[in-house]
Amino acid sequence: MKKVVFFTDIKKLHDALSNFNIQSFSEKTVPIKLHMGEKKNKYFPKPDFVKHVVGELKKVNADPYLFDTTVAYSGLRHSKHGYEKLAKIHGFIPKNVGCNVIIDDAGIPVTVENRDYEVADHIYNSTHIFAVSHVKGHVATGMGGAIKNFGMGGVTKETKQKMHHGSRPIRKKDNCTYCGVCAEACPFNSIIVKGNKWDQNMRKCFGCGVCVDVCKEKALSYMDADFQYVLACSAKACVQDKNVIYLNELKRIARSCDCDPFAGPVICPDIGYLVSDDPVAIDKASLDLINDVKKDVFVKENKISPVKQIKYGEEIGLGSSSYQLIEI
Ligand code: SF4
Ligand code: SF4
Repeated sequence: MKKVVFFTDIKKLHDALSNFNIQSFSEKTVPIKLHMGEKKNKYFPKPDFVKHVVGELKKVNADPYLFDTTVAYSGLRHSKHGYEKLAKIHGFIPKNVGCNVIIDDAGIPVTVENRDYEVADHIYNSTHIFAVSHVKGHVATGMGGAIKNFGMGGVTKETKQKMHHGSRPIRKKDNCTYCGVCAEACPFNSIIVKGNKWDQNMRKCFGCGVCVDVCKEKALSYMDADFQYVLACSAKACVQDKNVIYLNELKRIARSCDCDPFAGPVICPDIGYLVSDDPVAIDKASLDLINDVKKDVFVKENKISPVKQIKYGEEIGLGSSSYQLIEI
């Protein structure tokens, strides 16, 4: 069955939301899951836009608050206190957004497809969630949208680290012909092949899986699994059995993600906003709209196809890639 995705501008957000079960958010405490931006990043969702979303939730007597999790790498967003400070610097304060802002890093274990993920307890304990996802490129997944907002942003930093680690390559020496294709394809120059010597700098590896995909000899495999697969599973761990409305912002579409201080430049003109209750459908619609304007721009910029997260998401029952786009 085709899922419905509404294509709208912010002024018609109310009309778009009225097509979903927004009334069920009434009297509920609702986390608005969003990324509030890495230090020096300029592209994350802006407080005045988020305030609009908060206002829509308040209209149905919901009690919203902005929510995000801490990250595994060093920097301000590594700790609750640091991320709270940065969120304030970026303008995410009650006066600007109309609600409280909560950063947390406690998690509850959830098993999906035989893997354990620690879902942020604010997400785990909520029956109703609103997702604001900024759509942009990503160095390890090609694109970041709704699936990435939960798959990486909805879990604890320990789970984030485990997911990244498990998607690094291991090599079966006997299968390797030292052709060098993996080294040429790696977007981060993590692999070096010289003569009959194959070497990898693990510190440069983002676990994107490009090397595994290009090795025709099947000499490379994942330590655990494809990053885009565990990303889709992790997103499912966060949102399964919950009422979630997804809003994708297709503006300031930068080469890299909101956790990158040097995410620019913008690689696609602004498109607008999408609303759906299906994370796979809304990400597929986002990708299709971007490809219509700038064909294969994410693959060209980051050398990684984002299609896998959509394909895996559909395979594991996170959502449907079949959608009907309705413009309002
Ligand atoms: S692409 Fe495969 S066979 Fe070629 S060097 Fe890399 S690991 Fe070895
Ligand atoms: S997983 Fe990605 S970053 Fe890591 S070695 Fe392979 S191509 Fe390079």
